[in-house]
Amino acid sequence: MNIQQNVSLKPYNTFGLDVLAKEFVVVNTLEELCILCAAFNLSNRKLLILGGGSNVLLTQDFDGMVIKMNLKGIEVVGQNDEHVWVKAMAGEVWHEFVLYCIANNLAGVENLSLIPGCVGAAPMQNIGAYGVEIKDTFDCLEAVEIATGDVVVFNREECQFGYRESIFKQEAKGKYIIASVTFRLSLNPSFNVSYGAIQQTLEKQGISELSLKAISDAVVHIRKTKLPDPKVLGNAGSFFKNPEITTAQYNELKERFADIPGYPAGTGMVKVAAGWLIEQCGWKGKVVGNTGSHKDQALVLVNYGQATGAEIWQLAMSIQASVLEKFGITIMPEVNVF
Ligand code: FAD
Ligand code: NAP
Repeated sequence: MNIQQNVSLKPYNTFGLDVLAKEFVVVNTLEELCILCAAFNLSNRKLLILGGGSNVLLTQDFDGMVIKMNLKGIEVVGQNDEHVWVKAMAGEVWHEFVLYCIANNLAGVENLSLIPGCVGAAPMQNIGAYGVEIKDTFDCLEAVEIATGDVVVFNREECQFGYRESIFKQEAKGKYIIASVTFRLSLNPSFNVSYGAIQQTLEKQGISELSLKAISDAVVHIRKTKLPDPKVLGNAGSFFKNPEITTAQYNELKERFADIPGYPAGTGMVKVAAGWLIEQCGWKGKVVGNTGSHKDQALVLVNYGQATGAEIWQLAMSIQASVLEKFGITIMPEVNVF
């Protein structure tokens, strides 16, 4: 393993922020990862684990070790009449994994097409889009315990998945490095096209017969039309999570803002679209120095090229304050800030 010093992280984060890592190492195998944890006493060091860097905001140079996950491999590890279990290593690109599933007629992740990043980060926030979350197909994962270098298995319950949440953002934060994820995919698809613009897009494309590929293509088309490509305009997707508020608070707001979009989020709770709240505060398309809120999706904060992470963070905090002032709701970052 080659531990490099003072490496620019610009190619490793989708905001395109040029900060330095004091130490930087690419890990290619599970064995290397275990050795790194056990031999280098990593629990005493400041660590940043990186997959595709599509959900991080780097506000300053990183005064510790960055571990870039490059473990590769996708394999079938089990099968019955209804399901196939597929294990993917953490460094596999998420969308490549989705395409593998589609090519092999394995259903369950097609709505999650084109989410940037790697397989190993997917359980971190239980990635979700178009009414599907990875918890729906998740079977288990292997993680390396940083303090010991031991491999530990987490099943679905142990991951404590929630809305853009898991145990790895809570009490297990900073304690494990996810090495592989095993999914239970279906041989008998139940297509989910009711969410967002999927159905409309399929109709526009003249597609009447549903297939995994047709759904994936529709999702890819919508995302390419609506979301900025990080290779062109630095961003990390939705900067904030959609807040969940009580039904009482939602009803109160509905009296003042008749159009406020709300979706049931469990007993007595309503999920409100953060993008709508931000737009109502006048941020959509607004440019502030080198940063801004995207013109087509207010929830996505962008780097117009020369921004620093600190500037983006300042913009995020201004947006958070104005949403609180207008609606009495504190929107919380979804992006991981370092
Ligand atoms: P990184 O950004 O590298 O890491 C994210 C966090 O996980 C960091 O805290 C990091 O330290 C930690 N981490 C990464 N890998 C590991 C590991 N192996 N073990 C332990 N910790 C690890 N997200 C959605 O949920 N739904 C979407 O629809 C969606 N759309 C997006 C669209 C765009 C244009 C962009 C830029 C982002 C979008 N995202 C979306 C956010 C992001 O793509 C996902 O959260 C993705 O899973 C992040 O993967 P990554 O490999 O880039 O993670
Ligand atoms: P959209 O369709 O414009 O909808 C706006 C918001 O309303 C979404 O955040 C979504 O919540 C919610 N919503 C819409 N229809 C819903 C329904 N039928 N039931 C429950 N909630 C509903 O959203 P968009 O911005 O184009 O994104 C489309 C999908 O891609 C969403 O699922 C979104 O989460 C995902 N996405 C995520 C990121 C990210 O970085 N996290 C970035 C881009 C897109 P949910 O977000 O809970 O689905």
